[in-house]
Amino acid sequence: MNIDKLLRSNIKSLKPYSSARSEFSGAAAVFLDANENPFNEPYNRYPDPLQIKLKEKISLLKNVPSNRIFLGNGSDEPIDLLFRAFCEPGTDNVISIDPTYGMYQVAADINHVKVKKVSLSEDYQLDAQKLLSSVDENTKLIFLCSPNNPTGNSFEQEDMLEIFQNFEGIVVLDEAYIDFAPGKSLLPRINEFPNLVILQTFSKAWGMAGIRLGMAFAAPEIVAVLNKIKYPYNLNILTQQKAIELMENHNRVEEWVKLLCDEREKMIEKLSGFPFVQKIFPTDANFVLVKMHDAHGIYKYLKERGIIVRDRSKIHLCEESLRITIGSPAENKQLIIALKELL
Ligand SMILES: *Cc1c(COP(=O)(O)O)cnc(C)c1O
Repeated sequence: MNIDKLLRSNIKSLKPYSSARSEFSGAAAVFLDANENPFNEPYNRYPDPLQIKLKEKISLLKNVPSNRIFLGNGSDEPIDLLFRAFCEPGTDNVISIDPTYGMYQVAADINHVKVKKVSLSEDYQLDAQKLLSSVDENTKLIFLCSPNNPTGNSFEQEDMLEIFQNFEGIVVLDEAYIDFAPGKSLLPRINEFPNLVILQTFSKAWGMAGIRLGMAFAAPEIVAVLNKIKYPYNLNILTQQKAIELMENHNRVEEWVKLLCDEREKMIEKLSGFPFVQKIFPTDANFVLVKMHDAHGIYKYLKERGIIVRDRSKIHLCEESLRITIGSPAENKQLIIALKELL
């Protein structure tokens, strides 16, 4: 695949901002190059623009070399940057499955790029052929999300591979919930697909939505493009430090994931006993999509009790459905008690 051919021409010819910290990155005794204040260490200093230390840690943990890792201010940042790099506003388009995460559409709208939505089947499966037949000469990106939000299910690897292999643009596979679906990540095979970008995040299983840290894994050529167009200091010092700290005892994350997966099974069992529950969709994520009689009414009832779930009733193929995040054991219990009192 030729990345240069896919890039917008202004991005191809862009001369990126060269920061003081990227021109000199060695050890020195005196830094008088960046107009920083010498006081208030360490926050007076600009952060590492390429987050070398943090990437080394992520590289070890994920078994992916640093030059295949891009880090952003949440996954939102690489999503937006992919539009900026590859999609000519007003001309190019992208394809996305439907229903899926709403941020792809918002990023497309901001960048004035059309989204061609390809519906999943009634049971939320991916139809690779249908998706590929929607590609035209201006289609630059295809967005997949597995496990998918808000449906919760993962797609067959075979179907996703068919798309990677037969699309000449870039496929973005969002694996935000992959820690809850062990063994299903395609990250171990990233080297095989030069047009694949896999998104993961610290916001879900890692318990760090507040520090805003998202990861994009891709061929070094794609990572280089994202680095060229990002804000020079896109990740602040606090975020980089906190993430390193958490990774130093990531046993905690594994315990959380195990507990949340156990709670997920309990929640499914309890919910299936309610007469108003019509269907609980299979889930590989830390949430479950539940079709119920008068979903919106139940949503409002729970809200009055101070319990907030996500009403997805208006979303394509999610009629009468609520998306319920798996919380702590105490929170989950409160939800079940509230639903019992509704009977
Ligand atoms: C929650 C979520 C994310 C995470 O976004 P961040 O910007 O990293 O917090 C990404 N993709 C999907 C599908 C999600 O549901």
